[in-house]
Amino acid sequence: MIIRKPLFTALFLALASCAPVKLSAPPIQTAAGTGPIDPARLSEIVRTLASDEFEGRGPGTAGEEKTVEYLSGEFERIGMVPGGESGGWTQTVPLLRTQLQQPGSVDIAGRTMKLGSDVYLSSIRPGDHARITEAPMVFVGFGVSAPERQWDDFKGVDLKDKVAIFLVNDPDFGAEAGEPVAGKFGGKAMTYYGRWTYKFEEAARRGAIAAIIVHETAGAGYGWNTVQAPGGENYDVVRPAGSTLPVMLQGWIQRDIAADLFKRSGLDLEMLKREARTTEFRPRELKGTLSADLAVQQSRVQSSNVIGKIPGTRHADETIMYSGHWDAYGIGTPDTQGRTVRPGANDDALGIAGIMEIARAFKAGPAPERTLVFAAWTGEERGLLGSEYYALNPIYPADRMAANLTLDILQTAGPARDVVLIGQGQSDLEDDLVRAAAAQGRTVTPDAQPQRGLFYRADHFSLAKRGVPVLLLMGIGGGADLIEGGRAAGDKWVSDYTANCYHQICDAWRADWDLRGAAQDVALLYTIGRDLAFSRRWPQWRSGSEFREVREGSAAARP
Ligand SMILES: [Zn+2]
Repeated sequence: MIIRKPLFTALFLALASCAPVKLSAPPIQTAAGTGPIDPARLSEIVRTLASDEFEGRGPGTAGEEKTVEYLSGEFERIGMVPGGESGGWTQTVPLLRTQLQQPGSVDIAGRTMKLGSDVYLSSIRPGDHARITEAPMVFVGFGVSAPERQWDDFKGVDLKDKVAIFLVNDPDFGAEAGEPVAGKFGGKAMTYYGRWTYKFEEAARRGAIAAIIVHETAGAGYGWNTVQAPGGENYDVVRPAGSTLPVMLQGWIQRDIAADLFKRSGLDLEMLKREARTTEFRPRELKGTLSADLAVQQSRVQSSNVIGKIPGTRHADETIMYSGHWDAYGIGTPDTQGRTVRPGANDDALGIAGIMEIARAFKAGPAPERTLVFAAWTGEERGLLGSEYYALNPIYPADRMAANLTLDILQTAGPARDVVLIGQGQSDLEDDLVRAAAAQGRTVTPDAQPQRGLFYRADHFSLAKRGVPVLLLMGIGGGADLIEGGRAAGDKWVSDYTANCYHQICDAWRADWDLRGAAQDVALLYTIGRDLAFSRRWPQWRSGSEFREVREGSAAARP
């Protein structure tokens, strides 16, 4: 899971009835309750990937070289064939690292902004300077264009070379019961439209020069005080020539600074927020302009996704993809014991171990009829970059990918009576999950805090944006109901992990992990993928999903 640093330096953190599933391949049992997935082998893989030798698996480092070599070797030993570029195991992923240089100047409506305390900005547009001269500013409300919800905040406003100012989250986040908008954007659950990435991308699509979101603690899920650095560092993939240019500056403005800016245009922030929760909202041009002059240091990092496959015997051009991310946070500052490696054991060496064990399980059974693809992404922690690069440069067409099944962080506290579903109501893969869980004697529990928008913060999202139905298992979506200790013990595991270990040196392999629960979860994705691999079924997005329309657009490509 990705949290953009340094903005997020602190972690803030009607299911369908069961129907029997006909499986063409017989189930394989090697460990009670975990199907073909062996907790001991999961542990062994994580122990290797999270060892000091791999240096925390930072993209572009010696740790990456070791990781790519290890993964390609293991993928081959398992019996996969190369699934990357030009018949190899990898897909080269060029990454762009940018850093705004200090001092620089940012002026909004005649007022000099202090970077870090008034505004937080970065740039991912290629170039060595972010220079904006007297650009007009337009307030665009929540900045949502959602045809499937009959919602358009832009009303045809021209944003070319202008600065778009957005409200945080989506239109119904702050709605009270009875307001027409209430529930239209998932209630408290965050939708794609509430994500800052969506707002920056939408601004870029409309030709804006900059995109700035008004920070509010409730809607963002974290306080402005989490912005500790003057900021300015960012990453992106190197985008193909001719693709939409990102905005030159993107970021956040502190709430009171924004309120003052609106006031000087004769507008009231609270009133604008109420108005923006209605379909009648129209964008407003603000008084004054934005000018900025900041040098940008840029460098390129060459990284790689590792991709293997098990070719299908009958419908080889139809795919099911399993994925996790191999990258972690590399070397950091020493802790009290002098350790510097942030090993990313749980996040996400365990997910990678999971997809490897799924591949092994498939190789032990009959060959799948559809092709299975196993992807270990780079750059997830820098902004879902390996998966995004893949989605921009697909090796297996998204149109004929039946599903992407992603593992990112699994709990290590033992077997559970349930599995937590992230992003309820998205696709009918949720029904598959219910069936697979029932076969294990387990149930499915929706994510307790959908307002955190975890569904939009892991690699499966890069595929979802291209229409591929996705399912994510992520052990920090809420505490599982553990066989030993129940929900309280599950919640305690989540809070201990997120408070102490997440992205930290403490995210290390431990001999005393109980991986039976993780193995159960991995087995769920194995079962779901196996069902799809021996059928011609195409899972569907549910009506109301943000991703349904793009999938429907490619319906003709599927038999
Ligand atoms: Zn992760």
